[in-house]
Order: sequence, then C-alpha cells, then structure tokens
Amino acid sequence: MVVKSTYSKVLMLLISSSIFFIILYFSLYFFTLQEERNVYAETSNRFNNEINNLLELESDPIVSSLNLKTNWDEFVNFFKTNDTKWFRESIGSEIEIYQVDYLVVYDSNCKLIISASSSKIHTLDFIPKEAITELNKTKTNKFYLKIPEGVVEVFGASIHPTKDIYKNKTNPYGFCFMVRLIDANYFQKLKKITNSDINFIENGSESINEKSKIFDTVILKDYNNKPIGKLIFKRNFDFHFQNTKNILYIIIISFLIIMIIYLVYIKKWVYHPLDLIKKILETGNKTAIQKLKKITGEFGHIGNLFEESDNQNLELVAAKEKAEESDRLKSAFLSNLSHEIRTPMNAVIGFSNLLRSKDLNEEENLEYLDIIDKSGGDLVLIIDDLIEMSKIDAHQVEPKYKSVNIETCIRDLFETIKITIPKSKKIVFEIIENPKPPLFDIITDEVKLKQILTNLLTNAIKFTDDGSVSFGYEINKATKNIIFTVKDTGLGIDKANQKNIFDRFKRVENDIAIKVGGLGLGLAISKAYVEMLQGTIYLESYVGKGSVFTFSLPLKFDKNPRTVLEVIKNSETLDTNHVGTILIAEDDNINYLLFEKIIHLKNYTILRAINGQEAVEICTNNPNIDLILMDIKMPIMSGYEALKLIKPIRPNLPIVAQTAFSSLEDKDKIFEAGFSGYITKPLNKEKLFELINQFLKK
Ligand code: ADP
Repeated sequence: MVVKSTYSKVLMLLISSSIFFIILYFSLYFFTLQEERNVYAETSNRFNNEINNLLELESDPIVSSLNLKTNWDEFVNFFKTNDTKWFRESIGSEIEIYQVDYLVVYDSNCKLIISASSSKIHTLDFIPKEAITELNKTKTNKFYLKIPEGVVEVFGASIHPTKDIYKNKTNPYGFCFMVRLIDANYFQKLKKITNSDINFIENGSESINEKSKIFDTVILKDYNNKPIGKLIFKRNFDFHFQNTKNILYIIIISFLIIMIIYLVYIKKWVYHPLDLIKKILETGNKTAIQKLKKITGEFGHIGNLFEESDNQNLELVAAKEKAEESDRLKSAFLSNLSHEIRTPMNAVIGFSNLLRSKDLNEEENLEYLDIIDKSGGDLVLIIDDLIEMSKIDAHQVEPKYKSVNIETCIRDLFETIKITIPKSKKIVFEIIENPKPPLFDIITDEVKLKQILTNLLTNAIKFTDDGSVSFGYEINKATKNIIFTVKDTGLGIDKANQKNIFDRFKRVENDIAIKVGGLGLGLAISKAYVEMLQGTIYLESYVGKGSVFTFSLPLKFDKNPRTVLEVIKNSETLDTNHVGTILIAEDDNINYLLFEKIIHLKNYTILRAINGQEAVEICTNNPNIDLILMDIKMPIMSGYEALKLIKPIRPNLPIVAQTAFSSLEDKDKIFEAGFSGYITKPLNKEKLFELINQFLKK
C-alpha cells in the first residue's frame, strides 16, 4: 500500500473541494447563460408581438375606413353616376384624414375609374392587374409594392352595397386601394410608437448579432406573397446578465487567487514543518530543530520538545558515558585497592615472619620493625581515605568554622610535611612567602584546609623526583578570596587526564603512578572539601614541566585578638620515673595487649576493664586511678555511657577516648561528650606517651 503523506492528503482534499467548487461554478455560469438566452428570447418574442400589434394598430384606421367606405351603397352608385364631386368629398378626403398618399378606384373590369394622390406620389396606376384580380377573390388585402417613389403599403378592398357586410352576397362593383408611402416620415412615426430603431433592407440581410439589442424583422410581401424587402426593428436590450457574469468572473478569479494562497500557505504551514519533523526524526538534524522552533504555534512547541529531548538524549549519553566511566573506574579502583592493601599487608605479614627468626641482628630487627610500622601506617591512610569518601557521599561531613592563624597553619604544615619527604628525592621544599601576611585570623575549617593542602603536597612530592615543591597563599581583597597554590616541577598531567583528574578513583595510568601507588581519592576528597568550603579548585599542568594546583576559599577575617597557642611539650620531657595507675577499658584482647606492652615500657600500673560497665565499677572501687583510656565502642556499655556515669564520681579524672574512627569529625563529638582527649587506633607509641605525659604530669 502506498503511504500517502499528510501534505498530499491535504492537497487531495483541496483539489477535490476545488473540483466540486469549479463544477458548481460552471453550472452556475451555464445556468446564467441559459437564463440570459431565455430572457433574451422571451423579450424578443414579446418585442415581435408588440411590433406586429403596433403595426396592425397603425393600419387599423385605414383598414376600417376602407372597409366602411367600400361597403356603401353610395360608392356603388358612384360607378353609375361617376360623380367626381361626390367622390372627392366623400372618398378622396380620406387621403388627408388618414394621411395616405394615393387612393385609386377600379371598376369590376379592373379599369381605373378615378385616383387621387398626395404630393409624394406622382406615379399613377401602378397597382398590377393580378393584385386587383386577387382582391376579387379575397375582398380585402394588404401588400407592399415597389414604385419609383419607394416602397408603398397598399390596402385594398372590393366595393359592395351597404347591406353586404361580408362582401359575399354580391359581386364587387369595383375595387378601391389606399396606398401609403413608406418614407422617412413614416419611419419617424413608427420609431416613436414602437420605441425602436427601424431599418429597411431590400435585399440580403443585416447582421443581427448585437447582444445588447433585440430585433424584430417584418417581411414586406407583395400581392403574391413574395418578399420585396424587410423592416428591421431594433430595441435596446437592457436586461442582460453581464453583471451576474462579472460577479462570476470575480468569484472564479478570487477562487484561483485563494487557491494559490492556500497552496503557498499549506506548503509553508504543513508541508515545510512536517518535512522538518521527518528530517529531525530520520537524521536528528539540528538546524531542522532550530528552524522548527522558529515556526509559531504547535510546530514551534514541537521544535522546543525536540530540542528538550535532544538535550535529554545528550545528557543521557553523557550520563551513560559517566556511568560507564565510573564503572570502569570502580573496577580499576577495586584492583587498585586490592594491590594497595596487599602491598603493605604483604610487608606486615612477611616481615613479621622474618622477625621470628633468631639469626637477626639488632639493626635488621629495627629495619624490619620500621617496615612493618610504615606498612601499617599506609594501610591506615587507605582506610582513612575510604571512610572519608563514603562520609562525604553520605553528606555526613560538615565544615567546622573557627579562627585560624593562617601563617602558623602554613608553617605547621610545612614542618609536618617536610619530614615525610624521602631522603632519596632531591626536592627543594619551600613556602611561597606572603609579603603581606594578614593581621587577623581568618575564619575557615582548619582541619579540612590542612587536609586539602596535605593531599596536594603529598601528591606533588610523590610525583616529583628532583626539582621543587612549593606552596603558599595570597589574599585577594577585591574578590574577597584567599588563594592557595601548590606548585611542583614534577611529572605533570596531560590535557586528556586533566579533565577528570578530580573524579574519584581517577588515576593517570602511567608507570610512575603505578609505582608510587594510590587509590585516586586524594584529589576527589580535596575537591569535595574545597566545594564544601564554597571555594573552587583548578589545575594547570604540563607534562614534564610540573603542575600548579590552585584553590580559592571565601575570605572572612576574625577581627578578635589572636589567641596564643600553648605549645605542648613533647614526649622527650616525659618524666619516666613517675608512677601512676591507668585504667584501660578495651574489649579487644590484641588491642589491650598492645596498650599493655607499650605502657609497661614506662612504670605505670595498669588495670583493665573489658566493657564500659566494668570500667565504671573499677572506678567506683579504685580511687587511685589517674587516667582512663576508654574505648568508645564496647559491648554491654559504650565508652560514652561509661563516661557519663564516671564523671559524677570522679569529676577531675582525665578520661581519654581511644577510637578506631579515623575521621577527625569524631574529634568534636568526643570533646562534646566530655572526654579530656583522644587517641586513634592503630596506636602510635610516641603519641600515646605524649598524651599520658600531658595528663599525668604533676
Ligand atoms: P592518588 O591516591 O592516586 O594519588 P589522587 O586523587 O591524589 O590519587 O591523584 C590522582 C592522580 O592524579 C594520581 O594518580 C596522579 O596520576 C595524578 N596527580 C595528582 N597530583 C599530581 C601531581 N602533582 N603531579 C602529577 N600527577 C599528579
């Protein structure tokens, strides 16, 4: 089946209705013509009758006078008396009365008896014998003759006694003819009474094709019924249909113009948009969408919908690509994670086994222990990053704003990072000094700021073997921003990878990146933090030349006087001879063992509670306890609950929380609960002693 397009259907509809209209139109047109012909014929007919009747009426006085006179005994007597006086007075006077031009009387032998004529006719005795003989039969007649003066109308009647009214009882005594010359005067008179133009034609015919006139032809016949000429009467035919026809012409022309307009606009309003829609659906042509959008009305709306759906498609494609990329990244992440965890675990397990060997000297022992220590630290960092990322995802991380001395912050960070730079690297590590350090503290989240800078600096050091790594800040008062920069002259990142380097799990797949390891979370966490602090982070990097990571944070000064930080004494000042009692609340045996072994290095007395409830009981019964190291997560009673119960009994007893929660967010929660401090697991010996020293110094 041939599928017809909407345009061709509309066209078909238009053409069929046009055909219908044209048929109707021509029917009307022909009906009008027909009607015009009918009216013309009818009017002509009436004209003919009118002319005939008028001609008859016009001849009537002559005919009746002639009849009256020729049925008269006195006229019969005239043939005997030949009284010309009587004739002139009684009959001859008819010439003037009826304005005839010739009057003649013949006897029954067709012999001219007497005649009288007007000045117009000079020819005498022109009535042919046959006409007289004919009149003998017909008694009256009327015919036309051609004489030298012109055409004459002849009225004849046979003469009978008065009582023979019908001229059938007696033989004619004679014949009388009255003759009228058909001249200009006659025509003038006829014109007047018939209200028409009159032409006399002797031979041939006159064209009577004028549509605006009606015609009547009166044939003039002689006594033998032979035509001797004709009178053509013409009258204006005013009642014609030209106006109706003009209206019909206007209608058909208007119709044609309307049809052309229809065709043009149907093409514009139907064919063109449908064609565009077809193109869009077949090829997704973007210019077609733009053109469709510009059309007013529904098609414009459809254009908008197409654009929306096109955009949605693009978004879907982008989302699909992103999902695929994130899927790919997740797989890469898992294998990476496995590698990242296995490497330090391998070191921990391998070197722990080696430590069992008795052949090791002191130096080897220390070296292996260092390796195990570092590998454990690496594992903790990996777990820290993973937990932080999932907290960011769960929106559990919020900025904690406070006053920060930015100079001190930068310098602290510098010192902390400096000692982590491997000796093998020939890196100049320095601060980009700010010539105009701010006079006031700034308000920001110090923990997150330090974390961002640490991540960027660790990367910079990781990917720079020799050259320099520098960092610093500057203040832009105009834009009210503080801008931090971390520069390195290391490996650099190519353009293709720069686009999504801040995506989670994203790493540049090159040998060096594989060698130095990493989960691809550092930059993602940094970006999330920067955005959380309402800032932006960007990167400029050239392969082989190095990278510059820049982030700006909104600048807000704290105009209050600065607080002087108390410098905490480090463990070197610890009085090792001091003896105190420490309660360790810890459910896990290995963790407890580690605490015990470390703390035993210094001469402290150790007590253990395996849950919060036991810790409360021991505290109640033992007033000598100087410090509690309280695990947060314990069965039966948690560290928080135990704290709440111990505080009323021993308000001044320092209670330090020990937690495996890596996030620094938990720090606030711990302090809010009323703990005096906290220590994170895995345990760092130095940090533990620093803490004990802080709380047990007398
Ligand atoms: P990772 O834990 O892998 O370092 P990051 O998110 O911190 O994760 O970094 C992602 C990747 O970005 C890195 O694997 C590395 O390829 C690239 N990268 C980050 N910082 C730098 C830098 N300063 N120089 C070169 N490459 C870098």
